[in-house]
Amino acid sequence: MSRDAVTQSANDLFQQAFGAVPTATDYAPGRVNLLGEHTDYNGGLVFPMPLALGTAVAISFGGSKGTIDAVSGDAANRVVRHIEDTPDKAWTDYLVGSLKVLFDDNLPDRGLRIAIASDLPTGSGLSSSAAIEVALMRAASALTGREISPVDIAILARRAENEYVGMPCGIMDQYSVSVGSPGKAVFLDTRALESEVVDLPDSHNFVIIHSGVSHKLTEDGYEKRVEECNAACAALDVKMLSDLDVESLDRIEQLPAPLDGRARHILTENSRVKKALEALRTGNLDDFSRFLVESHASQRDDFAVSVPEVDALVEGAIEVGADGARLTGGGFGGSIVAFVQKPRVPAFVTAIESRFPKARVLAVT
Ligand code: ADP
Ligand code: MG
Repeated sequence: MSRDAVTQSANDLFQQAFGAVPTATDYAPGRVNLLGEHTDYNGGLVFPMPLALGTAVAISFGGSKGTIDAVSGDAANRVVRHIEDTPDKAWTDYLVGSLKVLFDDNLPDRGLRIAIASDLPTGSGLSSSAAIEVALMRAASALTGREISPVDIAILARRAENEYVGMPCGIMDQYSVSVGSPGKAVFLDTRALESEVVDLPDSHNFVIIHSGVSHKLTEDGYEKRVEECNAACAALDVKMLSDLDVESLDRIEQLPAPLDGRARHILTENSRVKKALEALRTGNLDDFSRFLVESHASQRDDFAVSVPEVDALVEGAIEVGADGARLTGGGFGGSIVAFVQKPRVPAFVTAIESRFPKARVLAVT
């Protein structure tokens, strides 16, 4: 589906559910992370790319102050929440959390009606959560006449996810989705909140493939990894692991397992992002490909966020023609991204689908 078609679906769903046209509708894309995994909550470097898949949110005032009457996908999926509700681990938490941080003390006098449509797979590592947060904040800002910069929307959306949904993520997803544009990579320093748009080589596609293993980040090891990184910081007496660079690797080796590996991944991953950017600038795609492969090994061995099905898919992708491939997103299942020369893509996709019946190609970009 195109962005226009997703937007039209949200408007149609709104009409169907609430019997009126929405006052405002906005959209935000998903993203694939090309390199720099788990570095964002460690003050490090990331290299995501917004996708041509995304989520549209249609909104109007309606009902009593504080109520959030929301529908997603189809009319059967309609839920009424209140802005003062505590989180209940449902999809509507993303809405309640986003609206809470957005409005803070300036809650509108009337309730809100919301319809959501998306062509983005959820829970696949493509950041459907950031897309829904950012699209809602954009639409709700338009509805209430507020002007908020894309960076501020990213900061608020991350807070919604950290403080209300209970997912201790960094800012990569919300930043790339709010600030970037589809098809162009964003080189982001998550501590300085400084970013640069980077053109990608014409010779290759990034192929995103779901492993068939679903992740649920709030229930898996993501939070554990955040805690381990914090423990490594305390042991090393630094504020963030990205205060150290690869020159400090010998200090890392003194840490008890598994903190040594966790810290090593962050330091080497930051270095790979830096070197990968340089490789792209100088057209050295062999190096770029190698950094993807090394990143996967580091996620698998040092950060322990991969699973056997994903490892097999990464290895299979290289065997059937990708120049590089790695787990993308938080891990514990989810998707891989493969860097494939354009003429090879059709045969590559066929080979992956026949070799991995549970895998699904989500996007070629
Ligand atoms: P990811 O961000 O990689 O897709 P997350 O686990 O962070 O994975 O977020 C997925 C969750 O976000 C879903 O389980 C659901 O609760 C919520 N969500 C995302 N998009 C939608 C949508 N279009 N409609 C309803 N809920 C959604
Ligand atoms: Mg998410």
